[in-house]
Amino acid sequence: MIHPASSTDVRTRIAVAPGDGIGPEIMAATLRILEAAGAPVDPTPIEIGAKVYARGETSGIPQNAWDTLRETKVLLKAPITTPQGGGYKSLNVTLRKTLGLFANVRPNKALSPYVHTLHPELDVVIIRENEEDLYAGIEHQQTEDVVQCLKLITRPGCERIVHYAFAYARAYGRKKVTCMVKDNIMKHTDGLFHEVFKEVAKQYPDIESESLIIDIGSALLAEQPERFDVVVTTNLYGDIISDIAAQIAGSVGMAGSSNIGTEVAMFEAIHGSAPDIAGKDIANPSGLLNAAMMMLVHLGASEVAEKIGNAWLRTLEDGIHTGDIYHPDRTQEKVGTQAFADAVIARLGQKPQTMTPWSLPHQAGPIVIPEYQRPKRKKQLVGCDVFIDWAGKDPQEIGDRLTELAGPQFKLKMITNRGVKVYPSGYPETFCTDHWRCRFVSNEAIIEADRKTYPPVDFSALLTLQQRLHGAGEDIIKTENLYAFDGERGFSLGQGE
Ligand code: NAD
Repeated sequence: MIHPASSTDVRTRIAVAPGDGIGPEIMAATLRILEAAGAPVDPTPIEIGAKVYARGETSGIPQNAWDTLRETKVLLKAPITTPQGGGYKSLNVTLRKTLGLFANVRPNKALSPYVHTLHPELDVVIIRENEEDLYAGIEHQQTEDVVQCLKLITRPGCERIVHYAFAYARAYGRKKVTCMVKDNIMKHTDGLFHEVFKEVAKQYPDIESESLIIDIGSALLAEQPERFDVVVTTNLYGDIISDIAAQIAGSVGMAGSSNIGTEVAMFEAIHGSAPDIAGKDIANPSGLLNAAMMMLVHLGASEVAEKIGNAWLRTLEDGIHTGDIYHPDRTQEKVGTQAFADAVIARLGQKPQTMTPWSLPHQAGPIVIPEYQRPKRKKQLVGCDVFIDWAGKDPQEIGDRLTELAGPQFKLKMITNRGVKVYPSGYPETFCTDHWRCRFVSNEAIIEADRKTYPPVDFSALLTLQQRLHGAGEDIIKTENLYAFDGERGFSLGQGE
């Protein structure tokens, strides 16, 4: 359950972080517009970012800020400056992970002709899983040649984000959700995301669904963005395509985003703290203002968001522009940060005349998603991949050696190097590193083209096998158990296996 909506006649306490660089200026401008529009919020400032880092707090967030966040459950955040080096942690990553902000939502809409874009019809929301994937940050150097980064995709993580995307589409009157992953290659990780997408899509028959491989999907997004409505994807792909979408919309400096958790939600501009223009009253406050409008919808105050959104569009149409979007043919008056805010305030109650006015369906507001129910399947240990550091070059040599050591209970099924089968019967052209993945399964395993049986194996027998390998001088750098779930293989095959 997402944080419940407040009724619009009660002021909801929100935490606001003025941030660094241009942050305090754009926050002041944004809060003035919210106040003038009658937004039902009561802002409580918290201090996070550069000053906190400077005091030696490496997370950039002091305890009292956490306490306020836990009470308010909503944060409007201006950009902060991340210190370089010195063991400081990324404040954004800390906030996302600590508060379980699993969904990153980035609407991108063309503001043509007031903001230049080649795609005037572009109107796409990128919904990105925010906590998992390669961003778990689990990396190891294993041999002289090889480092690894673990890509963790979980069923609850996939279910949450995919449900969120469909529920968002329904709440915001959108028609289609597109899934983009690379499950033709990563059949288990991206495969799980895609499988969950297909399962969840059936529960939203009113919303069209489609799936694309991420490479062609991102190419189409860059070329024909108007064919997309809502896109849902995993963390890394989402990071990349949300920047592509913002860039081709022409609105990197104007877009807002939300980071949604089951308890807390954070709203921010997508740009950084722009230290080069800080303190000059020239920054465009539109990114943070758009984030604030998303926050108002989340709080159930969509009519106030609509009022501000329309005044903002009208301001752009009237040619009142900050320097970053100045254009000699379209700008009537080049203004600073606070004067831009004054122009929006002066237009509250007005609507744009050429651009489509903001209009949100009544049900827009907090998104509710179902609780995760863990499926119960029978898990059986059926083998082990033993990774060995060996500087030799000949796969036959290590293969014969390990076949000897497999013992009566196991057989060496295959060896791969960087995922390609090199034993038995590899190709002499395959380049081999010092990182050998050696797959041991039960001696009774039958693995033929039309028949695959992985009999269960005993964990202590696997430990004895490893002891034997170690005793014979093999350098085991890691092992990965092989499991079947309800008899279904839970691991990938080697290329050529
Ligand atoms: P940036 O987005 O701050 O600036 C890039 C360029 O865009 C600069 O020329 C800047 O002047 C301009 N710009 C950005 N926002 C603008 C606005 N509202 N109005 C007018 N012009 C604007 O990116 P950067 O320079 O790479 O990063 C600066 C700092 O911000 C770094 O410390 C970085 O770590 C941090 N950062 C923070 C966040 C965040 O807090 N969410 C996000 C990105 C970067």
